[in-house]
Amino acid sequence: MGGLAAAARATELGASVVVHEKGDRPGGSMLLSSGVVWRYREWERFREECPGGDPSLQRLVWELLGDALAWLESLGAPVVARETGNPATEGVRFDPRGLTESLARRAGEIRLREPLVELSGNAPVVLATGGFQGDRALLRRFVTPEADSLLLRANPWSTGDGLRLALERGAGLSDGMDEIYGRAMPAPPARVTPETFASLAQVYARHATVRNARGDVYEARTWSEVDVVRWAASQPGARAWYHVRNEALGERVRDRTVGEMVEAARSAGARVAERDGGVEVEVVAGITQTLGGIRVDERARAAEGLFACGADAGGISTGGWSSGLAAALVLGLTAAEEALR
Ligand SMILES: Cc1cc2nc3c(=O)[nH]c(=O)nc-3n(C[C@H](O)[C@H](O)[C@H](O)COP(=O)(O)OP(=O)(O)OC[C@H]3O[C@@H](n4cnc5c(N)ncnc54)[C@H](O)[C@@H]3O)c2cc1C
Repeated sequence: MGGLAAAARATELGASVVVHEKGDRPGGSMLLSSGVVWRYREWERFREECPGGDPSLQRLVWELLGDALAWLESLGAPVVARETGNPATEGVRFDPRGLTESLARRAGEIRLREPLVELSGNAPVVLATGGFQGDRALLRRFVTPEADSLLLRANPWSTGDGLRLALERGAGLSDGMDEIYGRAMPAPPARVTPETFASLAQVYARHATVRNARGDVYEARTWSEVDVVRWAASQPGARAWYHVRNEALGERVRDRTVGEMVEAARSAGARVAERDGGVEVEVVAGITQTLGGIRVDERARAAEGLFACGADAGGISTGGWSSGLAAALVLGLTAAEEALR
């Protein structure tokens, strides 16, 4: 998201842009996402939900998101809904494929399968490689000793290239390097594919008793359940077990019931046991993105001539979760404008 938004904006402002894309298609995790670009309705709520995040970056995203959404729509990005389904937040849900296409069409020259591996020349560079969730060694170093057991719930190409390049250029690390965003997913032998990253998410810890392999119990604290996923990520095998009593199976979490999520896990081949008046699903922490990364200022500057946006730019959601698409969009536009200035 961040890279294409930056490239489309810079092209619009008259720059000649080259987009290096490591993958075999544009769009990264944005294309796999649910396409909801959102913010907390209240600024104070944003601060409460993500208390460790840099307030100046948060303010930037929060204040500029409305204009950024209007810009996306002006490119023809197809809107699916103008609400998020969560009363605490507001935003727009786009069709991810149409969103990707409308940005890619305007992003200048896109060189597929040509990763950026070194920084050379004098042209400004915007790093937007999507974080480091695809690199087990970096995850082990910064996030959890259980890194090898995490399920990668994201594009496979975001392996910390932006972070490495920025550090080589003298950039700093943001706060919250150990923090991640993700979802509890049905554990192997369940079959999880990119097409089922969204539909197989198990988001009902608030209605369940959550425990690890040793039997230690964890109580969910956040609406997004990001805290549960972080906890699970540091448990043996990055595993947890969600036990739901039969009477809670009809509870709704947004557009699905708990029972529907359990059945989705069962049909994907997850271990689901009937016990103690309910069902128990074995889940694994699925990592969608890292929340720590390159330290940037409110002009997306990381070092001389070097900018970062998207999950590469850390320290925005620290302590909780806010829309990764929104942060990538706003910082991407900011990076393009600052790079040209
Ligand atoms: C299933 C799912 C659902 C989601 N739903 C939502 C949602 O509804 N709302 C929301 O806000 N967020 C959502 N997200 C998160 C959202 O997709 C990310 O926050 C967002 O895509 C991050 O943007 P980005 O630009 O940092 O990374 P990406 O969009 O992943 O783009 C990074 C790009 O960099 C490329 N790359 C990596 N290394 C290199 C290199 N060395 N050289 C060149 N290119 C490189 C990658 O191939 C990729 O194309 C979801 C994610 C998933 C997986």
